[in-house]
Amino acid sequence: MLIRENISLLPYNTFRMDAKAKIFAEYSSVEELRALLEQYKGDPLLHIGAGSNLLFTKDFDGVILHSAMRRARCVSEDADYVWIEAENGLVLDELIAQLCDMGISGLENLSYIPGEVGASAVQNVGAYGVEAKDVIESVRAVSIADGTERIFSNAECQYGYRDSIFKNELRGKYIITHVVYRLNKHFEPKLNYGDLSSEVGSDPTPMSVREAVIRIRQQKLPEVSELGSAGSFFKNPIVPREVYEAISAQYEKVPHYEQEGGIKIPAAWLIEQCGWKGKMMGGAQCYEKQPLVLVNRNNATPEDIVNLAAAICKDVQDKFGITISPEVNYI
Ligand SMILES: Cc1cc2nc3c(=O)[nH]c(=O)nc-3n(C[C@H](O)[C@H](O)[C@H](O)COP(=O)(O)OP(=O)(O)OC[C@H]3O[C@@H](n4cnc5c(N)ncnc54)[C@H](O)[C@@H]3O)c2cc1C
Repeated sequence: MLIRENISLLPYNTFRMDAKAKIFAEYSSVEELRALLEQYKGDPLLHIGAGSNLLFTKDFDGVILHSAMRRARCVSEDADYVWIEAENGLVLDELIAQLCDMGISGLENLSYIPGEVGASAVQNVGAYGVEAKDVIESVRAVSIADGTERIFSNAECQYGYRDSIFKNELRGKYIITHVVYRLNKHFEPKLNYGDLSSEVGSDPTPMSVREAVIRIRQQKLPEVSELGSAGSFFKNPIVPREVYEAISAQYEKVPHYEQEGGIKIPAAWLIEQCGWKGKMMGGAQCYEKQPLVLVNRNNATPEDIVNLAAAICKDVQDKFGITISPEVNYI
């Protein structure tokens, strides 16, 4: 167990905000996590992964928890599937690389998404037509209130688009410690999204899909090591058909995807139509290659990011009557 006091959170968030935390505590087992929960009972707590979906807007006057549990193991298998249980602190992309290497598929489209296994099951991360919920069998979590363990089935996680029960009624109540994935032994590539199919080429394997996803992402998204960001800052709105039809009557070729409950219009397109692509506010910038991403271009303060996000939301609302909301967690 590692406990440090009054530390800078700069290395712990990909936006590179220099907020401070009163305590930073890292555990290496569920028993250590329980001991920390007991020790800091009543203090404000925040469990983080790689901090790639967080915006620290101020110092955190409490305890930041982080997991150093990073193992994965096979817990079951049959002729078609293998069940892998991964610990919360394992870097998701490292797990995916290992699985692709073994020819085990299901997660390859999520390659190169920053972050750790625990948070990916909170966020229901998604990319290239696949979401974590498609392969999550169950999630093991520890109650912050009393340290008891609970197993949530996939259905009990109430997954939705970048959403789960852990972001809603159980927000701040459980820490996910393990995630069990049901993965395929027989490869069924999912290549219907965007330019993935042409990038992969013929005879796809889990590894060739992973490599193609990484190539595409490297062209479009900022490298975490080079430019601060939290990936897509906003969620893509799902609007009623009438709203989409009213917009497409005014604009040529409005990109859209049929969804349950409405039509998804890429927030990036809405933001670009409002003229924000590449624009800066203070040190924050609407990324020139992908306007859904806000970046820390030049020593941005949290206010710069918050102000830029608010200005973009307002313009999208005024121009299209559509509310876009942040995917990023403001802390
Ligand atoms: C360049 C870039 C590209 C990205 N691309 C994508 C993408 O394609 N698709 C996508 O979905 N996301 C994407 N993201 C967002 C981000 O990678 C994901 O949301 C990721 O799951 C966050 O993981 P993390 O470990 O960094 O979590 P953090 O940012 O540290 O935490 C996220 C949330 O989860 C909570 N949390 C963390 N760990 C636990 C736990 N063990 N138990 C309970 N709660 C916990 C935190 O309190 C917080 O509310 C991108 C981000 C960046 C920077």
